[in-house]
Amino acid sequence: MYNAKAFSAASASSPLALDTIVRRDPTPNDVQMEILFCGICHSDLHQARNEWSGVMPTVYPCVPGHEIVGRVTSVGNGVAKFKVGDIAAVGCLVDSCGVCSECKQSLEQFCATPTLTYNFPDKHTGGVTYGGYSDSVVVDQKFCFKVPENLDLAGAAPLLCAGITTYSPMHHWGVGKGKKVGIVGLGGLGHMGVKFAHALGAETVLFTTSPGKKDDALRLGADEVVISKNADEMAKHAGSFDFILDAVSADHDINAYLNLLRRDGNLCLVGAPEKPLAVAAFGLLFGRKSLSGSPIGGTVETQEMLDFCGKHNITADVEVIPAQKINEAYERLLNSDVKYRFVIDMASLKG
Ligand SMILES: [Zn+2]
Ligand SMILES: [Zn+2]
Repeated sequence: MYNAKAFSAASASSPLALDTIVRRDPTPNDVQMEILFCGICHSDLHQARNEWSGVMPTVYPCVPGHEIVGRVTSVGNGVAKFKVGDIAAVGCLVDSCGVCSECKQSLEQFCATPTLTYNFPDKHTGGVTYGGYSDSVVVDQKFCFKVPENLDLAGAAPLLCAGITTYSPMHHWGVGKGKKVGIVGLGGLGHMGVKFAHALGAETVLFTTSPGKKDDALRLGADEVVISKNADEMAKHAGSFDFILDAVSADHDINAYLNLLRRDGNLCLVGAPEKPLAVAAFGLLFGRKSLSGSPIGGTVETQEMLDFCGKHNITADVEVIPAQKINEAYERLLNSDVKYRFVIDMASLKG
């Protein structure tokens, strides 16, 4: 075991502050890395403040962070995939059972006993896992990914959660050339959705309540922007979409979007509104439409997504901050005041 620097929350109401945590020494299958960048995901804020106490009560101190990019500093003797000096990435999972049918198909996100990157029982230390708001981390090589060399490393960090969360459902439901795809909401997830849908060759339409986001959406790759509060604009697209990715976490009317799907179209939720959404059955019956959801992605698909990003030079649009500004960033996140992801520069933990 060794000591690492981290920014942690000591309780649901305390701001994040510099702390010392214990990490395991690398085992034969482990990769140890110096963390260079870590994205700030909205889940981090929920967990730091124990807002998911019903499902995943937070254990303190809590070190969030599951959008990690770092440089490999040591590897166990069973590691062939990485060598010292390589750039590697870690996302929302650091382990899974490895033997269930989901794990055998590299769909570890559906394993019944996964180990999440933070605030989850840690098999090695006996405590809980600590995330990427830290100067280093030790992770099993299976859950470490290669980062294409051409990518900006700060912009690559959010690919590990916001990226795979939007890429995976589009990949699964066959988004590509000849398909008309809608993205609902232009935030951390939505802006990645627009980039992926465009790069996959789909006709891409962004739905937003904010007319001020139009130019940015077009710049990010949308072919068209629809202001969802405008009923006439919405009506023009009735029955025309093959797939709609809904990245909104606030309460909203999904029936308005079900109406825009064509026969056998699919509306996939990747945002998680707090309260249940109302669904009109007739909106699904006519046209045999589907309502679905999708969480993160598995190990093989995460590497595929990173390789796809390398090929198309896709990264997140980020605002890089020092760790000392995490609390300020959380407040701005609550006001949707970020384009489109905060990323912590871990060099700020040095000295
Ligand atoms: Zn996340
Ligand atoms: Zn499993």
